[in-house]
This record gives sequence, structure tokens and C-alpha cells, in this order.
Amino acid sequence: MPKANCSISTDVSHAAEILRAGGLVAFGTETVYGLGANALDEHAVARIFDAKNRPHFDPLIVHIADLRWLDRLAEQLTPAAKTLADAFWPGPLTMVLPKKDIVPDLVTSGLPSVAIRMPSHPLALELLQKVDLPIAAPSANPFGQISPTTAQHVLDNLGDRIDLILDGGPCGVGVESTVVLMTEDRPRILRHGGITQEQLESVIGQVDVYLGGDVAPSSVGSSESSSEHRQTGVAAPGMLSQHYSPTTPLVLASDLDSESIAHKRVGLLQFSATSAATRRAGEVVSVEVLTVDGNLTVAAASFFAALRRLDAEGLDLIIAEPFPDHGLGRALNDRLTRACHR
Ligand code: AMP
Ligand code: MG
Repeated sequence: MPKANCSISTDVSHAAEILRAGGLVAFGTETVYGLGANALDEHAVARIFDAKNRPHFDPLIVHIADLRWLDRLAEQLTPAAKTLADAFWPGPLTMVLPKKDIVPDLVTSGLPSVAIRMPSHPLALELLQKVDLPIAAPSANPFGQISPTTAQHVLDNLGDRIDLILDGGPCGVGVESTVVLMTEDRPRILRHGGITQEQLESVIGQVDVYLGGDVAPSSVGSSESSSEHRQTGVAAPGMLSQHYSPTTPLVLASDLDSESIAHKRVGLLQFSATSAATRRAGEVVSVEVLTVDGNLTVAAASFFAALRRLDAEGLDLIIAEPFPDHGLGRALNDRLTRACHR
């Protein structure tokens, strides 16, 4: 018999108790809902991988509220890392730093570095302060599927596999944190996310971008930046070419040939109300418009929820319109290209 669903709660003390006892608590952050466990307890961390069905080669991000934990988990920050922490923490920025021995290998997939972030969501910060432990937390969804941006999304996907969901309301940013590798001479973006490349470069100058994987169809994510590299194959753990995927096939409007939609029930994921995609698709039965005025911040906040709604409609195909390739649009295009079924 399947286990009963866990409850959705706003009781931070109870959530902290569960985490201290080695349990699993999903909690709202400003990016997406995280599935948290004590990062220093290998058994608790192992439960995250089991609940998500996440492969062990995909390392976890460790969440902290207090810089004391940064000293204990990672080697001394470089000046650039210090500048980024000062500028963007708390917030949707994850830094990959040389790790200390205290961090279990399971958390880092055996890498000598650890990914650390200080979230800005008040309830997440309160939880981290109360538990006073570093909390490993990937997105609270089954591996490879759409990330959750409400407590209900988590309940729907993992309710019978975890101990509690701490309800922080709908996520304000709506896409995952930006991951920046800080262990080499020049900072390098490994994943576009809530802090844009432009924001990073405004405080530390030029950053490299290396997103790994075979994820770049011609029309999307092709940055003009000469420092952007994409190669074939999984270049670093977790940078998988298929991820964030609905169960319904998804194609980019720019990759669509007209025959492929004949006699299909099609849903549209439109960036703005004036999208060209509307005119291309024939049998459109459902449309999600992310913004009326092309505001990327608004689009990001509703992106995953809109994708979920389309996925729940029993469509044959979702056609998604690429985003402008700057600012948060880079993070959204990255999610879209990885969400495509190949
Ligand atoms: P998430 O799935 O949101 O928990 O994000 C975790 C991602 O951060 C992984 O899939 C990796 O791409 C990246 N990451 C975490 N730890 C490391 C690390 N030590 N080195 C490089 N990338 C990392
Ligand atoms: Mg994830």
C-alpha cells in the first residue's frame, strides 16, 4: 500500500526538528521548492537521492543562512567569491567552492568542491537558522521532471516520499539559482539562473559560461559572448541535456515543421501576448501566456507552473516560444531546451 501523503505546514520549528532527526523536509525558497536534509548526515542525504530517484553522480547544493557555516564547509573564499557573496547573498546564486572534509562525498558526488547557496526567502532563512545545520536541497521533484514552485506541486509529486512540506507560498523568482564555478582562475557559469550573467559581470567583470551537455539547438541559447562554450556530452555532473521535462512532448516553435502538428491537440507556451507561435499552430486547444508586456521577471515566476498546467491537459504536443536571449531569458531558454523531448 502506498504511504500516505505528508502534510503541508508553516510550522518552522517542527520542520527544523524533522531535519535534525534525519528527515526530509521540502521547503519554499525564492527559486523553486527544495527537498532538504541535513547535509552532514549521509543517511539523510541518501534519502534525498532515493525520494527523487536522482543519480548519485548529480551533486547537491548546500543551503546555509549563516556565514559561519561557509567557513566550516569550504576553503577560504577568493576575492571574487567574496565580492559575489557580498553582492548576491542571500539570493539565487550558488557558488562551487573547494570543499572541506566535513562535507560528505555523497553530497558532492565525490568532487573536491561543494556548491553553496544562501537563499533569500524569509521562511527558508528562518528554517536554516533554527536548524543551525547546512541543508542539502535539490529541487523537490522526481529527477528530470518539472521543478515545483508551490507546496501543492511538491505534494502532487513527492507527497508520499517525504516527511513535511514547509509552505513558503509561490516562489518569487521561479527558476533555479545561477551556479558559478569559483575554483578556477576565472569564474564560470555552469547553470544560468536567478542572478543573470549581466548582474554577475557588473560586479566581477567578464565571466565564462560553460553549460555542458548537447543542449543547444541552433536558435536558442546561442549567446553572442565569445566566451560561451558548449560541447557534446555531459561535461560536469548534473549538466544533463534532458531535464525539467513534462510528460507531454515539447518542441520549440523555432524547431517546428508544420506537418508535425497535423491532427494533434496542441498547447502553446507563449512568452508574450504578441507571440508569432499563435499563428503557426493549427489545432491549439490550450494557451499559456507568461506575460502581457514581455517582462522576463514575470515570465520566470510563472514558467514552471504554466508548463505543469499544459502538461496536465493530456495534449499531444506543447509548442514553446523561445525567450529573448538576455538576462533571465538565458535561464528560461536553458530550461526550455532541456525540457524538449528528443
Ligand atoms: P539542483 O539540481 O538544483 O540541486 O542543482 C544542482 C546542480 O548544481 C548540479 O546538477 C550541478 O550541475 C551543480 N553542482 C552542484 N555541486 C557541484 C559541484 N561540486 N561542481 C559542479 N557543479 C555542481
Ligand atoms: Mg532540479
